[in-house]
Amino acid sequence: RNNMIGAVIGRGGSNIKGIQSMTNTKIQIIKGDSEAEVKIFGSKEMKEKARAAIEAVKREGSYNPESTVDNAASQPSAGRAWGTDTIDRKVRPFIDWDQVRAGAADWEKRKWADLAPVQKNFYVESKATSSMSQVQADIWRKDNFNITCDDLKDGGKRSIPNPTCQFEDAFQSYPDLMKKLQKAGFQKPTPIQSQAWPIILQGIDLIGVAQTGTGKTLSYLLPGVIHIDSQPTPREQRGGPGMLVLTPTRELALQVEQECSKYSYKCLKSICIYGGGNRKQQIKDIAKGTDIIIATPGRLNDLQMSNAVNLRSITYLVLDEADKMLDMGFELQLMKILSDVRPDRQTIMTSATWPDTIRRLAQTYLKDPMIVYVGTLDLVAVNTVKQNVIVTTEEEKQSLIQEFLQNLSPTDKAIVFVSRKLVADDLSSNLSIQGLRVQSLHGDREQSEREQALDDFKSGQVKILISTDLASRGLNVNDVTHVYNYDFPRNVEEYVHRVGRTGRAGKTGISVTLMTKNDWKTAPELIKILERSNQSVPEALVTMAQQYKSNKQKKNAGKKSKLFQQKPKEFH
Ligand code: AMP
Repeated sequence: RNNMIGAVIGRGGSNIKGIQSMTNTKIQIIKGDSEAEVKIFGSKEMKEKARAAIEAVKREGSYNPESTVDNAASQPSAGRAWGTDTIDRKVRPFIDWDQVRAGAADWEKRKWADLAPVQKNFYVESKATSSMSQVQADIWRKDNFNITCDDLKDGGKRSIPNPTCQFEDAFQSYPDLMKKLQKAGFQKPTPIQSQAWPIILQGIDLIGVAQTGTGKTLSYLLPGVIHIDSQPTPREQRGGPGMLVLTPTRELALQVEQECSKYSYKCLKSICIYGGGNRKQQIKDIAKGTDIIIATPGRLNDLQMSNAVNLRSITYLVLDEADKMLDMGFELQLMKILSDVRPDRQTIMTSATWPDTIRRLAQTYLKDPMIVYVGTLDLVAVNTVKQNVIVTTEEEKQSLIQEFLQNLSPTDKAIVFVSRKLVADDLSSNLSIQGLRVQSLHGDREQSEREQALDDFKSGQVKILISTDLASRGLNVNDVTHVYNYDFPRNVEEYVHRVGRTGRAGKTGISVTLMTKNDWKTAPELIKILERSNQSVPEALVTMAQQYKSNKQKKNAGKKSKLFQQKPKEFH
């Protein structure tokens, strides 16, 4: 009966987890009107044992492995210690991994068995696109930020589709969407859009290596809305959302939501789910029904655990700024969320960088993807930004920033990046005392305060925004003229993202970065970035990098000589 479910599951799932692990089964309990259905997956013998264990829990109220699982399934040799040691060890159950794997595969198959098929290919190549020769396509890619593509499918490579150079090349069959694009006043697709659209519209998984400001959001949103609108199962019968966009920060989630509403297509409903927002309201909004969920992993996982959201209906999944999600430690939440999203979905992943951790993530969650990247896969800061580096001391930083901010012209807008919330608060109050109007953005501020700070900065009421790295990405303000790195970021990847907050949408920008001896280990990498984006490298930075290297060599030499001074180990 339903009233026994709690007892069978046990506190924190302790009973059911215990039974599953002792019997090598997978158990599913489905609540009905008055009685629950219990499905047990595993071998015949183990299923019987699990059933007996569940009966025992119902009788006794808790799970006791010794009384419910007999020792026939145990390894006799594990019960005795070696040699003369006669201490009795706990009998360990024998685990037949082949059976466990087979059971898991079977369970996985059943888990998705009742779902309707997904349709993924909606691409009709235009005449203009199909008539492009290979050479023409290559020249176009080179001229458009040196776009590079590859097919990561194992075995034979598929041919990379020609880029869609005009909006109608991608969306000629979708007049409603074309109207929205014309209304937005855009001239033509950005490079990432031109190359991503023909791939995604064909139903192929895609990795887009591109930063914010390149138009990456529309590169996945527009094919996404076509995908969910064109599924064979009508929207109202799917029982949940069709598209899920996961983003690392609430700021980015809100921005994606904004883009989504701007190009709202066929009345598709979207909602934004993020930590710090009203949880009850979010649950109500989900219950009302939605087509698109844009969410941060923490809050979505929380709602998933409370059964407030159905993820089984999702057929189009986006992992936006995946590198930042991993940096922020969301891997576990991602894993839990994706375990409830059907495996035959279409998946798009964007990332500003392409390190090993991101490659592994792509391997796990994407199927035979193609990759499109803008520029080189090495780190390159945008070359529309004039990057200045000042080597200084911690004590001098305050006077340097005051001088810089006081010299800004009334039309300038600057983001000042700091390392910690405390520094953001300190600096904001110091500058306010000096009569400068500033706003600050960091994780300890209330959500409403953060939204207010962003609005003030976007609207131009406040021209200076002091921020921790929370705002270094996803912050979509096209008229930022200056980026000031008051503290050097954790790594050079973050430096590139911060600098990319200016010089956007065809404009030029200026960045100023303060470096102290505390940051010297990043000096060699920073020099490489400056050189690659044709910036001048200050003498003091070169000296700092040399000092760091020679100090490192000395340390290494010290370690080696200590090793030689040690008494040789005796070997037997
Ligand atoms: P994103 O890289 O997605 O953060 O986009 C940066 C900005 O570019 C957003 O404000 C978009 O509205 C804008 N945008 C997107 N596509 C285009 C386009 N084809 N032409 C001009 N601007 C665009």
